Amino acid sequence: MDIKQGSHVDLMIAGGTIITMDENRRILEEGNLLIKGGRIQAVLADDQVPEDLTAEKVISARGKVLLPGLINAHSHLAMTLFRGFVEDLILDKWLNKVWEYELSVVDEKAVRAGSRLAFVEMIKGGITCAHDMYWHFKETMGLAEEIGVRLISGPPITGLGDQDFDEMFQVARETLTWMEDLDFVYPVLQAHSTYTTTPRMMRTVRAFKEEYGISFTTHASENQDEVDNVREQYQKSPIELLSSYDLLDEHTVLAHCVKVDEGEIDLLAATGTHVAHCPESNLKLGSGIAPVVDMLEKGINVCLGTDGAASNNDLNVLGEMRTAALLQKGVNHAPEVLTTDQALEMATINGAKAYHLDHMIGSLEAGKKADVVLVDFQQPHLTPSFDPVTNLIYSAAKSDVDTVIIDGKVHLEGGQLTRLDEERVMAEVRDLEGLFDGR
Ligand SMILES: [Zn+2]
Repeated sequence: MDIKQGSHVDLMIAGGTIITMDENRRILEEGNLLIKGGRIQAVLADDQVPEDLTAEKVISARGKVLLPGLINAHSHLAMTLFRGFVEDLILDKWLNKVWEYELSVVDEKAVRAGSRLAFVEMIKGGITCAHDMYWHFKETMGLAEEIGVRLISGPPITGLGDQDFDEMFQVARETLTWMEDLDFVYPVLQAHSTYTTTPRMMRTVRAFKEEYGISFTTHASENQDEVDNVREQYQKSPIELLSSYDLLDEHTVLAHCVKVDEGEIDLLAATGTHVAHCPESNLKLGSGIAPVVDMLEKGINVCLGTDGAASNNDLNVLGEMRTAALLQKGVNHAPEVLTTDQALEMATINGAKAYHLDHMIGSLEAGKKADVVLVDFQQPHLTPSFDPVTNLIYSAAKSDVDTVIIDGKVHLEGGQLTRLDEERVMAEVRDLEGLFDGR
């Protein structure tokens, strides 16, 4: 985009290394990012900036690396409340223990406190957009709107019988209508999984998907027990079952897909289904390692998620990138697979594509929303920097995130939150009534 002589912008981020993640994966060594009205107006090399350009605010990015805001494509935000609560258990035992506790502790106030903590943690780690699937979802959506951080969410469908069927879908309809007025929250239909829903629910979700024209997400094939149990009940694997519901297509995002065979990977690829890979949660619950390299080779769009903090135990997409890359190299005995460029794609543009938000976010390009992260590379562990992407994936820590901008607004500057009181947010969680009673 051309910047006219005498232009005025809201914010100029001057003189940093810009990893654009645009189609050509352009990296500008001495770049300038101009922001106006919440959008990126231009990405310019030093000699392209008009001499008489004026800016409301200028942030110097010397010694810093700019990248698109990270996207956490699968999570349960208020589960920060259960960080470290249940350890060393397999998925179904872990789930049962967490569910039991959730029933006694989780109310609207608790979800608000847990989600606020999640947003603080994520913004400090350069995450500007997150998916959420949880109870009292309107609390988290309202909070995202209030703070001005992007959220992908919707009313979750779950239940082992159809007794609450009518009410659940009534709530879903009302919520989707209510969400129409939200600027920062993007609707997605969600069902917990094939093993916690009924066929009637899934077929209704399919009809909703058609009616509303929005994406759908669910957990699928997270571990071997799940696949075995679903096969025993339905004579189909979770992927085959979702296919029989006609729920596999380019508007579906499946979390995990750890236990998928060659034929299922082909099916996901052929249907354009997206996968949200959650490597650290899969490792922690002993679920296994998703065949991500095979998925990428077949052309599946794989994005990255943290899953909830109770099975991770943090919300750190920078860390997930490193884990994802190292894991695939290790299990495939092949150092050339899952490159640093691919890892960064998974955490940015692929997440945006999965939820069809790539016209707005996922890369630093003129016209897109200004969701920008500045990482301070003036650190011993980031010196020297032959390639900023390599250092970002393998050497950078969450604490190196210096500045975070969402929709053109500064949320973190010099490592300090500008819109949220960190101490208060932590105290709010610690002081929740009954939080520690379940131990
Ligand atoms: Zn999950």
